[in-house]
Amino acid sequence: SVAHQIDPVDELSPNDLAAFWLPFTPNRAFKKRPRMIARAKDLHYFTPDGRAVLDATAGLWCCNAGHARKPIVEAIQKQAAELDYAPSFQFAHPKAFKLSNRLAMMAPADLDHVFFANSGSEAVDSALKIALAYWNVKGKGSKTRLIGRERGYHGVGFGGISVGGIVNNRKFFGGLLTGVDHLPHTYNRAEQAFSRGEPEWGGHLADELERIVALHDASTIAAVIVEPMAGSTGVLPPPKGYLKRLREICDKHDILLVFDEVITAFGRLGFGTAAERYGVVPDMITFAKGVTSGTVPMGGVIVRKHIYDAFMNGPEHVIELFHGYTYSAHPIAVAAGLATLDLYRDEGLFERARAMEGEWADAAMSLKGRRNVADIRTIGLVAAIDLDPRPGSPGARAYDAMDRAFHDHDVMIRITGDTIALSPPLTIGTAEIGSLFDRLGKLLDGLD
Ligand code: PLP
Repeated sequence: SVAHQIDPVDELSPNDLAAFWLPFTPNRAFKKRPRMIARAKDLHYFTPDGRAVLDATAGLWCCNAGHARKPIVEAIQKQAAELDYAPSFQFAHPKAFKLSNRLAMMAPADLDHVFFANSGSEAVDSALKIALAYWNVKGKGSKTRLIGRERGYHGVGFGGISVGGIVNNRKFFGGLLTGVDHLPHTYNRAEQAFSRGEPEWGGHLADELERIVALHDASTIAAVIVEPMAGSTGVLPPPKGYLKRLREICDKHDILLVFDEVITAFGRLGFGTAAERYGVVPDMITFAKGVTSGTVPMGGVIVRKHIYDAFMNGPEHVIELFHGYTYSAHPIAVAAGLATLDLYRDEGLFERARAMEGEWADAAMSLKGRRNVADIRTIGLVAAIDLDPRPGSPGARAYDAMDRAFHDHDVMIRITGDTIALSPPLTIGTAEIGSLFDRLGKLLDGLD
């Protein structure tokens, strides 16, 4: 029962753990041995009893500026007092336009129009719906097929799991969207093991799109969606030339290309967007997470001019796109976004991430040869360490690593399957990088 002995005022009082059904978490294991977080500042979380835990995951790939940064905190406080909420259906508030302009400036080329949502999942569903509606308003309503990729993660909406390629996220949820196909994923350990940055091998896998187009015909295909770097599946950097080739094939067949940059935007790969890093201009970019440095939920889609313009037809009093969320461009999220972008600019955090990339990769690769380490991949300020699975118990070794990292080594890491994923705040420095991989080395040494 949840009814007894809960003091709602004292967040640190012993709590009944039953009521909260944790997302993407084994609830029974968690509740036997909770990993509880009470506070955060800069690069650290703090447990209720005050233990500092190094945040090697920027929360969930989102707190790129570090935690509880004063300018963001103050902007949120001020906004809550000034304008708590305003609808974005038929009305708007000035800061929403300001943030849209800032995002349009950050995105390359003519990616100049922003549609707001509240999460990466909503951003992806918005992008897929915009793609389908786009072909309708262009008079090519037969272009309805969506192409995702094996091992892709595009959130948990029905659209996102349909184009996504993570089996466990799909298998319990029925038929999903019809008219979806998937590119092969780009990972091949035999060819790529211990690659720093973009692997040399695998660019040719983009040509699989030609095969898919030949099978279905371009007249039935609306869009291709990929993460420039697949994050949640365990960090798969794009092979050299892969994204450029996808762009070429999409251009050739009049197919929209969507980059899901929920993880890769806002400095994670050393640039405002992965599109900029790779010099490839998609038709849409989805974003979330780092836009507010994780402080207030926000997501969205940045679209190219030709997409926005295609909708601006018909009688002017008629809604052009029947889509949106009550909290699209929520004033508090917008204020947090503006303060976050200021902080990224003022502290040069994207450039900083770029400058640290080599040092970060060296430190990560120093774990090569440790017990159970099967592969290490790095890109930007991201690293993945694949562990050999325990025979007959996939995922158990990494779960143990994550739990012990938190309880015994004072570090928060993220796991997927038997892969450890690291993505610290972009403010991390040489000393903390050293300390992080030192702790991980000790962790791996002690792990069965
Ligand atoms: N797309 C990508 C590439 C992601 O990495 C994520 C989350 O990790 C999402 C979409 C979903 O975002 P959210 O959890 O905010 O819905």
